[in-house]
Amino acid sequence: MENVNVEKNESMQQKNFIEVEIDKDLESGRYKEVITRFPPEPNGYLHIGHAKSILLNYGLAVKYGGKFNFRFDDTNPSKENEEYVDSIIEDVKWLGAKFDEVKYASNYFDIMYEKAVLLIKKGLAFVCDLTADEIKSYRGDYNTPGIESPYRNRSVEENLKLFTEMKEGKYKDGEKVLRAKIDMASSNINMRDPVIYRIAHISHHNTGDKWCIYPMYDFAHPLEDAIEGITHSCCTLEFEDHRPLYDWVVNNTDFECPPRQIEFAKLYLTNVVTGKRYIRQLVEQGIVDGWDDPRLVTIAALRRRGYTKEAIKMFIDLAGVSKAQSSCEYDMLEYCIREDLKLKCKRMMAVLDPIKLIIENYDEGKTEEMTVPYNTENEALGSRKIKFGRELYIERDDFMINPPNKYYRMYIGNEVRLMGAYFVKATRYDLDANGNVTTVYATYDPDTRQDGRVIDRKVKGTIHYVEASSAVPITIKLYENIVDEEKGKLNADGTLNLNPNSLTIKKGFAESELETAKPYDRFQFVRNGYFSVDPKGFVEKNPVFNRIVSMKSSFKLTK
Ligand code: ATP
Ligand code: MG
Repeated sequence: MENVNVEKNESMQQKNFIEVEIDKDLESGRYKEVITRFPPEPNGYLHIGHAKSILLNYGLAVKYGGKFNFRFDDTNPSKENEEYVDSIIEDVKWLGAKFDEVKYASNYFDIMYEKAVLLIKKGLAFVCDLTADEIKSYRGDYNTPGIESPYRNRSVEENLKLFTEMKEGKYKDGEKVLRAKIDMASSNINMRDPVIYRIAHISHHNTGDKWCIYPMYDFAHPLEDAIEGITHSCCTLEFEDHRPLYDWVVNNTDFECPPRQIEFAKLYLTNVVTGKRYIRQLVEQGIVDGWDDPRLVTIAALRRRGYTKEAIKMFIDLAGVSKAQSSCEYDMLEYCIREDLKLKCKRMMAVLDPIKLIIENYDEGKTEEMTVPYNTENEALGSRKIKFGRELYIERDDFMINPPNKYYRMYIGNEVRLMGAYFVKATRYDLDANGNVTTVYATYDPDTRQDGRVIDRKVKGTIHYVEASSAVPITIKLYENIVDEEKGKLNADGTLNLNPNSLTIKKGFAESELETAKPYDRFQFVRNGYFSVDPKGFVEKNPVFNRIVSMKSSFKLTK
């Protein structure tokens, strides 16, 4: 008996607060099933925050054997654009959220209009002639109750006539609005006779010129949910104060089983820019090369950079669902992609900032092949042969003229291991006119070929290399955070505080197999991180590698 209870408690604890609410609703019979939705406005690309909303809503539908709707909230004709519609559909599909069809809120304009007429007939809505400024000044504030509009007590007949005329285009933009008749003294300002329909002589991408009146968000959104039979309408915290209005709308418009709104905290991430407004700024000012620039955290950007949907899901799961606003560490997102790619990726040799290493006691013209597994932690990936010869490329910072303490890599006289190959010892070096090292000369010990066997002599440093005659030149893009959060995300004038080093382009060398890498192929470049082939502007046999993430991590999972 006791055991059963313990198990029950434990499974209860694993539920987030929304699931707890849903359980109550199902138990009480308020709802018989769970229908959720993701309702983006097509006014920009989706970002990592939206991924949370998508995965949360889709996840709930799956968990409760219910349904997930994907709907464009396209009731505001001035901001929408087809490019955004297409990108949003692609992103939702890529994240793995399944839906029957793409729905459009604008298809419900007729029903919304009927519901507005219904409110008028019930004496719950009126046509108001006050200007926008007057409405604002009549509204009062937190400490002062509002003043009722002089048009508030128009008869139902007059309201019906005027609203019909609004629809027929008799009035100019702003001349009249339809307002809900609720309570001008409400402590919740959203309830002080909010505007629910406005006149806007603008064509709509879906309905063309059929309408010159459009519903306001706070009226349209609850109706959209109710029309689709949504049960749980999950949205972010800024809508908490709008919930009484949401309830008022769905409860007064004759729906059999009205939906309920539940708010959760937005996902924020340090060192990046979320919020379409800021992302749009960066795109329009040409600071980034589009909404999918790998320095952004739009879903398109994460995908282009090489993020997997599995890593994004892991991140969203770790971030959790709560009512408390907080910000996640960018490091946590990086942790997730490293975890996901750790066993999936081949570990390849690539040198990002090359200098030559010439092994003077190795025969000229001779090459050898070393058998090296692709991933020592995942044998299933197999192995390949790596070339070795007299001339190699190594990383510039793997050799130092004046090494600091605890530097275990190459310096004159110090023996290091060339990964999977021989031990070598640097003897001398060449400099260019600027004093930079161009070539390091070394000798090797032929008895130390590693190639799968253990050598009992110990060296402290192991470095990687690419054999020069077979190396393929590659382009590498290294990224840093786009904003310098240490100094504050925004400057005093409201502009973004940009990190000038957010993109570095390098020309390096890699083992030959990488020449034929295809867009989105992912690899670990040993010691340098995880990389993925940039799909944008891809040229066959000339891949550009985006660094997804470096190998270094400061993030520790505490759970
Ligand atoms: P932004 O604030 O970035 O411009 P938005 O809220 O205007 O985004 P919508 O298209 O209105 O974007 O949002 C669609 C859904 O995604 C909404 O339900 C919204 O609450 C949710 N959402 C938006 N941003 C986040 C976020 N950072 N975390 C979680 N959910 C979010
Ligand atoms: Mg919005």
